[in-house]
Amino acid sequence: MWNPITFLDYNNLWRTMDEMGKEIPNEAPWKAPHAEEWDKITMEELLDKVCWTNAAKRFATLFVNVDVTSEPHEVSALWFLWYVKQCGGTARIFSTTNGGQERKFIGGSGQISEKIMEYLGNRVKLEKPVTYIDQTGGSVIVETLDHERYEAKYVISAIPPVLSLKIHFNPPLPSMRNQLINRIPMGSVIKCIVYYKDAFWKKKDYCGSMIIEDEDAPIGLALDDTKPDGSFPAIIGFILARKCRRLINLTKEERKTRICELYAKVLGTQEALHPVHYEEKNWCEEQYSGGCYTAYFPPGIMTQYGRILREPAGRIFFAGTETASEWSGYMEGAVQAGERAAREVLHSMGRYSGEIWKSEPESLEVPPLPIATTFWERNLPSVPGLLKLMGFSIFFTSVAAAGLFAYKKDLLVQK
Ligand SMILES: Cc1cc2nc3c(=O)[nH]c(=O)nc-3n(C[C@H](O)[C@H](O)[C@H](O)COP(=O)(O)OP(=O)(O)OC[C@H]3O[C@@H](n4cnc5c(N)ncnc54)[C@H](O)[C@@H]3O)c2cc1C
Repeated sequence: MWNPITFLDYNNLWRTMDEMGKEIPNEAPWKAPHAEEWDKITMEELLDKVCWTNAAKRFATLFVNVDVTSEPHEVSALWFLWYVKQCGGTARIFSTTNGGQERKFIGGSGQISEKIMEYLGNRVKLEKPVTYIDQTGGSVIVETLDHERYEAKYVISAIPPVLSLKIHFNPPLPSMRNQLINRIPMGSVIKCIVYYKDAFWKKKDYCGSMIIEDEDAPIGLALDDTKPDGSFPAIIGFILARKCRRLINLTKEERKTRICELYAKVLGTQEALHPVHYEEKNWCEEQYSGGCYTAYFPPGIMTQYGRILREPAGRIFFAGTETASEWSGYMEGAVQAGERAAREVLHSMGRYSGEIWKSEPESLEVPPLPIATTFWERNLPSVPGLLKLMGFSIFFTSVAAAGLFAYKKDLLVQK
């Protein structure tokens, strides 16, 4: 950032992405005026066009890795710009304070599912993967792997789209949905938590957040994961996208050692080499997730198949975070999608006539603050803009200097 050219390049990158995002409708990204054009290119191609410096390109690559656990060359520019936009823009999605990484649940977010399960009692069936859905009769029959059968008027499928490939449908899914579920893969991530005796980084006045670009570094983003009461001092880190694929066949112990060595280097202390415990979760091996955090759209898919995402197939309705229009890819999006799908079913049963889409209410306890941009962020030129300005000023200065020289030398003729 000390380099003013790099600073201009960064500033222009975030500004451009946010400006492009503004023209993408949350609920229908395929309707954006430049949808076709942006969906034909990858984020890598877009970054090549927008960024002038390697520093900005490298950071933008990490930005894509962190946000969607995939590589810039894998994802459609339209889809990624939409993804960032529906999370409130580049600053909101990436920030901890006042951003996507700000809030945690005391006691863990799993409590939500557990409490809902308490409320629903034995109607919740765990470890019952659905393998067959039949809607040839008057109702829907759902069959699980252990051949239990359930009957319902409607079904809401809230699994990542690609996992529908594990289910047999009778009648088969409509052609476009059948193709869509082949076309949106899940991202790659291993989540790693290193526990220490104490939060030694605080002694150095570090917050524990690390953004690490080195190609050799296993972790791209790390955050302090100590519990709110100060117990279990820990740093959580993410092994993302290409690095996840590269390190997936190491042993757990080998990954732990590499991560601790990295933290020792970044935090500048040997204390990082002495964890008291290590936990990790390789989401790529989960057969009922297929990867994480969410599905990504390669080029060309959003404009061709995007509108199929939420289109019901007979009496099967679709929820899941991939179908959300705000914070898709997050728990927030999963909740929005579930409520929207429930309203669609109620509507189809004639028991609801209100709006299908409703925004989730903002948190009253911790309302998000607006993201403010400064005058300079809005108005500083991009690198090519600066070069043009310099070109103009060199031209005008040269003309003025030549004029002055001519005047001094009495070369100018007065009429
Ligand atoms: C490492 C990591 C970090 C993340 N960090 C955050 C974060 O900080 N904040 C945030 O908001 N979100 C985060 N997410 C994303 C968040 O977890 C997801 O967006 C959210 O869980 C999606 O919810 P969902 O209900 O759509 O799908 P899921 O949570 O994937 O639920 C789908 C369920 O369907 C089940 N299933 C699959 N196939 C079948 C089948 N055939 N039959 C029956 N059941 C089936 C699965 O077992 C699963 O329980 C993170 C994800 C990961 C992996």
